[in-house]
Formats: sequence, C-alpha cells, structure tokens
Amino acid sequence: MGVSNVVGLATESVEILRFFSEISVSSVAEKSLSHSFRHSLYDACLTPPPGYGNIGGLRCGVEQWQLVGLITRRSQVQILPPLLHITQGLPGIARRFLIQGENYSWYTFRTFQYLETIMKIDSITLHHLSMPLVAPFETSFGRETERECILVTLQSEGLTGCGECVASREPGYNYETTGTAWHILKDFIAPLILGQDVTDALDYQRRVERIRGHHLAKAGVEMALWDLLGKREGKSLKEMFGGVRDKVEVGVSIGIQESAAALVRTVESYLEKGYRRVKIKIKPGREVEETTAVRKAFPDLRLQVDANSAYTLETASALDPLDDLNLLLIEQPLFEDDIWDHRKLQARFKTAICLDESIVTPRHARYALEMEACRNINIKPARVGGLSQGIMIHDYCLARGVPVWCGGMLETGVGRASNLAIASLPGYVLPGDISASDRYYHRDITNERFVLNDDSTITVPNQPGLGVTIDEEALQQFTRAELTLKAGE
Ligand SMILES: [Mg+2]
Repeated sequence: MGVSNVVGLATESVEILRFFSEISVSSVAEKSLSHSFRHSLYDACLTPPPGYGNIGGLRCGVEQWQLVGLITRRSQVQILPPLLHITQGLPGIARRFLIQGENYSWYTFRTFQYLETIMKIDSITLHHLSMPLVAPFETSFGRETERECILVTLQSEGLTGCGECVASREPGYNYETTGTAWHILKDFIAPLILGQDVTDALDYQRRVERIRGHHLAKAGVEMALWDLLGKREGKSLKEMFGGVRDKVEVGVSIGIQESAAALVRTVESYLEKGYRRVKIKIKPGREVEETTAVRKAFPDLRLQVDANSAYTLETASALDPLDDLNLLLIEQPLFEDDIWDHRKLQARFKTAICLDESIVTPRHARYALEMEACRNINIKPARVGGLSQGIMIHDYCLARGVPVWCGGMLETGVGRASNLAIASLPGYVLPGDISASDRYYHRDITNERFVLNDDSTITVPNQPGLGVTIDEEALQQFTRAELTLKAGE
C-alpha cells in the first residue's frame, strides 16, 4: 500500500487531492485499519500532514474501524466530502463518524487537531470545597444545604487549567462522593498523568480506562485538560467543541418544596426572574398534586419533572396522571441502573421519558435508543466520564435526531462554564439545567458570574479555555482540604 493508491481515490477535488497527497502511510497496522473512501477499502495506518487532525484512527485507540465520513462543526453527519472542511477551515475539531465493521454501529469520534500539542502535567492540586447554597435543594434522595465538590487544578509549563469534580458529600445521585473521588484522583488518576505528556482528552481517556467507573472523578481532570488546551491554543471550549450558539437556552430546576402551594409560589418567583422552562423534582406521594398545581397555574409553561429513580415499574403507575399534563418530559423515573423497565414505561406513556442516571457511557446511550427506552437524554458530561464522552453521546443522538439537553449538578462557575460550552453544540435543542450563578450561590469561586439574559438564555464564555478565572479569596474561604501532587515526587 503506497501513498499513490490513496491519492488516486481523490479525483474530484483539488482540495481533497492536496489533503490526501500530504498523508503518508507510515505502516500497515498489525490489525489493519480500514480506511473507506467511496466504498474502497485500504488497510493502512494513515498519518495526516502536520496541523491536521489524525485520520488513521490509531490515535483514538480503536482498531479495525472504517472511516466513512466526517462531521464538521456546522453540519450533521456527512459522508466524505466534508474532508474539504478540514483543509479549508481547519476547525478546532473535525468530528469523525466511524462505522465498526459492517454492523453500521454508531460510534462517533472526534479528532482534535492539536496532536502536536503535548501538555506535560507538572502538578495537580485538589481543593475539597464546601459552599453554602442560596437555598436548600431537595430531591427524592436527599436535601442539600451546602454543596461539596472538588476543584482540580493542573499545572503545565506555566499554564493552569481548572476542572470541577461534581461528586457531592453523599452517594445519593450515584455511588461517588467527594471522599471516593479524592481517593481515586490522588491514588489512581494523578499517577497516570503526572510528569506525562497528555495530548488530548481521548489520550487522557485511554490512560484512565483501566480505572473502572468513577466517572465524576475522571471528568474533573478531563475538564481541566480542556481548560489547559484552550489556553495554550487561545481557543474557547465552545470553539474547540464546534459549538454553534453564542447563548444557550436554560431553565431552572426546583427542588421538592413544602407543599404544592409553596411550589407554585417558587415557580412563579423564577418566572419573574425570566426563566421560561421549569423542572420540578418529584418523589412518591409528591408528584400528582404538585405537578397538577403548577400546570394549572401556568398552562403554557414549558414544564418537566425529575424523579431521580424514585419509582419502580409497579409504583410508576402513580405517574399516570402526569401523562395528561403536557410535560416536556419525565426524567429518570426508574432505577438508576435500569434501561429495560424504562422501555416498558416509555411504551405506555405519551410523554417522552428522559434518561439521566442510567446513561453512564456512550454505549448506554446506544442501548437506550436501540431499546426505545427514552426519547431524549440528559447529558451530564461528568456522569459519563468527561466532556469527550458527553460529546460522543451528543453526536450519536444528533445523527439520529434525538434531542439532548444539559443537566446540572449545582456546579460552581467552573463547571457552569463547561456546561455552557457543551450546550452550544447543535444537538442541545432542549433548555438545560444551567441556571444563573445567583440561583445557587451568593458567592462563587469564579470572578465571573453567569447571569440570565432577557430571553432565558445564558451567554457562552468565549475566552480561551473555560473562560473563567478563580477568585482565590473565595476559594480559600470554601476550602476544607487541599493537596498538591507534583511530578517526580
Ligand atoms: Mg436528573
């Protein structure tokens, strides 16, 4: 296999020809990669010219994949001509659509064109934070008055990147806590990256894949890597992800209130602040009266509910009356590890079921959609192990016309900036739980505060990286424990 064979495929466009002519075929992989162009298959390991994204697939750690098309940042899945977009626009990310074997499976990979960028991780600092919430937040699994999380800070050759690990004090949302995340970050993730040259998010994911689970811990570091990468490249996360919106539509998530009347008053107060979509938390015995009351008070409100896994297939009959309330969706009614029973429930509900807790990897998204267990997905990048994994789920859903939206974990300004960036992607067509900073905190750890625009949107940061800076005084005020690990120590 020589270069000429590959060049010979591209006869229609000078751009494509030029692109391919600069590719060198460095080797035929032991387990050959199949590069498909116009249904012609060549087994080769392709090395892209400098400055271009990797197109061979080896850097994705995936073997025996066929590259059949590319997605560019402004378009959906397209079959091969979008190669032009790589040569012309050099977008921050060329997204790749890959098909496994002949199964027409669904994996989407993005390749990041910063392959020459190597980030040597000099140190990692963890801050265990405890921050008072503006008001208690009650869900079916508990009530929070203080929000705990871990701020992850990476130092790399004079640059600082920040990420937020959203694990909270108790294992209510999922099994991780600030305690388990601290342990995993310190004892397992840090040794895998300290002093190492980390090229990008997918490289990082490969390094940590031997650690089972612990997605919230992994995601905190990946976010910090993106912040570093963006600062080095002078690009915002939105730009690197291929976001298409400068402002994203948001809603507010309201915890369980004392009574239905109190809930209606709370909803009204948020509508007065400008929110145009409301989500209310429900649990057994606190669903029908509450949701009906809100619907009656606000007949046209875009309203949705979230049960956080509080029902079983048997007790879910309590939700039947909600099916006539014109809700946007019913979120995660059943077990956090279930997909099959959700399928049964979705089959008898007019209202869309949305999965949150159940989707912990891109694979789970495929399971859920193939099973028809839901009609949309709440993508929390942290829950699925990092922003790169959230983007994969987004791409998968986008290619299938399945709406997604961005969930919230009561993030500080750091995580909020990250959520806004991913929510700028084209498939995020439902408003996210990304409220303004003042909905959660009187004082945040970022100097920047996110405010609600008049049209129920929040502006996506456009500065390099996450686009936020740390208020060091606030950070110290909320820090309960701090640890720095350095390379070579
Ligand atoms: Mg939820």
